[in-house]
Amino acid sequence: MSFSALPGQTPPEESHCKRRKLLLALIAAGALPCSMLFGATPSYAFQWPQHEEITKDGLSYGPAWDSKTLNFLSKEAVTVNDTKGWGDRAWLHCDNADFVSSDYSTKYPQTRAQASFHLQKCIEASKAHLERAVDYAGDLVDSNNKLAAPRHFGIPCVLDDKKGRYKCNTIEQLGRSWHGLEDFYAHSNWADKALDKPLGFKNPPGLGMNTLPSFWGIAYLSYSDIADKVKNDVPGNLTTGCHPGSRSWGSKIYPSCKNRVTHDHILNKDTRDATDRAKFGTNYQDSMKVATREIMRQWSDFRSRVKGRYGERRGDLIICAIIKDDVLKNCG
Ligand SMILES: [Zn+2]
Repeated sequence: MSFSALPGQTPPEESHCKRRKLLLALIAAGALPCSMLFGATPSYAFQWPQHEEITKDGLSYGPAWDSKTLNFLSKEAVTVNDTKGWGDRAWLHCDNADFVSSDYSTKYPQTRAQASFHLQKCIEASKAHLERAVDYAGDLVDSNNKLAAPRHFGIPCVLDDKKGRYKCNTIEQLGRSWHGLEDFYAHSNWADKALDKPLGFKNPPGLGMNTLPSFWGIAYLSYSDIADKVKNDVPGNLTTGCHPGSRSWGSKIYPSCKNRVTHDHILNKDTRDATDRAKFGTNYQDSMKVATREIMRQWSDFRSRVKGRYGERRGDLIICAIIKDDVLKNCG
């Protein structure tokens, strides 16, 4: 499935940077509280500092990133899916893939298969962005191992999901791909434990996993592989949270989330104290740890894909052009 098949992927009305700058200006003028920037309103994801921490920690394994590029990727590109125009799409944040089995709940409002379908759409969305990142990376260095024109290596970028300068194209798509998979660990019970009270939709079982799920190995899975992995490898008790402000795939209707595991108040670990579940034991830290390991996998797999596609020498130069601030000086 191509990315263009994703419904509702129209660019936001205003860019993330413009919106953030406007908010910062209003906060500086005392017109708005800081919470407007860092999410006192219902959150969609690991908050921005958490996304930044996970991304930076995950990328600290492998070739060294220069600070300007790394900051732009981890502070801006990875968080762009949470900004206006993108934040209400559940499949970009792995929301609404909620389910509790009949062992713990009477007649859950959606089936295991429906919940897994929503998870699959989240994985496919990350995969689509990853494939674009691999495609666009080839523009950075031509088949004679010659760098693109200097104007293509500038940072920062406009994050509107449209093609522009070459380095920006790849950085933006990596950020969008990694947002969803980082969210998966904050929004699901993959790595957490349930509270010490009866299980049910208000306290779903925790899977307590410290390994990476097969179905997120998107760099080396085709779309049909992803469907197979979701069908065969998703644990029966895996759940994410229903988000009343997020539309599910193919729907314009926001769910009420009645009698469902909810993102807000029940399951999310977007911050250390987002919910009782986030505060419980090491749930928050464990989710951050597995998400970080996931970024390590994704970054390693991305580099392998680039070298596999473009060859060792050209691949090395492409990676250099992605991670270095001064590409002309370091990657010539
Ligand atoms: Zn998100």
